[in-house]
Amino acid sequence: MKTWDVIIVGGGIIGLSLSIALRKRGARVLVVERGEPGREASYAAAGMLADCTAETPEALQPLAIASARMYPEFVHELQDESGIDVDLREDGTILFPRPEHVHEGPKSLLPAPLSELEPGLATSNRMAVYLRERSVDPRALVSAALKAAKHREVDIASGTEVLSLLISHGRVGGVSTDKTSYAAPVVVNCAGAWAGQLELVKIPTRPVKGQMLSVVGLAHGPRHVIRAPEAYLVPRSDGRILIGATVEEAGFDKRTDAATIHGLHQAGIQLFPALREGRMLEAWAGLRPASPDNLPILGATHIDGYFVATGHFRDGILLTPITAHVMSQLITRQHLEYDISAFSPARFAL
Ligand SMILES: Cc1cc2nc3c(=O)[nH]c(=O)nc-3n(C[C@H](O)[C@H](O)[C@H](O)COP(=O)(O)OP(=O)(O)OC[C@H]3O[C@@H](n4cnc5c(N)ncnc54)[C@H](O)[C@@H]3O)c2cc1C
Repeated sequence: MKTWDVIIVGGGIIGLSLSIALRKRGARVLVVERGEPGREASYAAAGMLADCTAETPEALQPLAIASARMYPEFVHELQDESGIDVDLREDGTILFPRPEHVHEGPKSLLPAPLSELEPGLATSNRMAVYLRERSVDPRALVSAALKAAKHREVDIASGTEVLSLLISHGRVGGVSTDKTSYAAPVVVNCAGAWAGQLELVKIPTRPVKGQMLSVVGLAHGPRHVIRAPEAYLVPRSDGRILIGATVEEAGFDKRTDAATIHGLHQAGIQLFPALREGRMLEAWAGLRPASPDNLPILGATHIDGYFVATGHFRDGILLTPITAHVMSQLITRQHLEYDISAFSPARFAL
């Protein structure tokens, strides 16, 4: 029977990127994915790499900043190995902050007047801030990661659902699936919003639904990411403009709702009136993996050999490089460059 050093449960962007990082450290890795790799939250995401917003929880800021710094190199390598362009954009973000995040200070923190920076924006007297953030196309990113993982001889079992962990002599020995069992001395739960469905260790993830739409056909779309409390706009280099996103506690329900999509579309038009001229291309929803304190769940569990890397909520695309880096260090018993103790699964132990 074939064995591996590590089995990863879940082939989203977190599981795929971790598989590559572990492979680079010499491990033989199997990714077990219930559906097709990269078709859940990682496929639904907008791809903003928002590392410096007031909305990022303080405990997460060091990892968010480190991950944003790692992005160009991370993308460069994936593009090189896969031949897939992931549309890393460097134009930055124009942020209209939430009123509670606006403190005493200048009316606007922009390198140029708003009308010059982004001429299509509806004129407004709102406080605006320019952020040096990047964005990426998450669908292209997961395709690139999948191709790079295969290229590096990561094994991938698609269409296979992990039902339980195999435990022998008090430590993990592999996983049992709806088809067969796979053996490995290390298992990492990267099952996103579904991570809590694997028993033995309490991993209290819950799905937080996000609906979005995309529009095409504008003569002059926005160049920057535009982020406001009521909606955000994320331009892609192929002319698509994404408008997002709802944040809904709706269980494991990925349906879109026409009235909600219409509301988002209208909010987008209020920000950038030329969106009215565009044609709606697609509407979709995804399930963000959230945890009770909205922080990721990263680290070893009390079962020897069983690790968790999930709960990335609204920042999983941003946090992918640092998660892969630090989790691969932890699993291969290297010195950890970052303190991840605040994200330990042990904080939810009964
Ligand atoms: C609308 C929306 C917008 C977003 N925008 C952004 C953004 O702009 N920037 C950002 O950084 N993040 C954003 N996010 C968040 C980001 O998408 C997630 O944090 C990230 O994709 C999580 O990746 P993941 O690999 O953990 O989860 P997923 O991509 O959901 O992958 C988990 C995988 O595990 C598989 N799985 C589950 N259970 C099992 C099982 N028992 N056996 C085998 N396989 C299993 C699933 O099929 C799935 O493929 C957004 C999310 C949404 C929904």
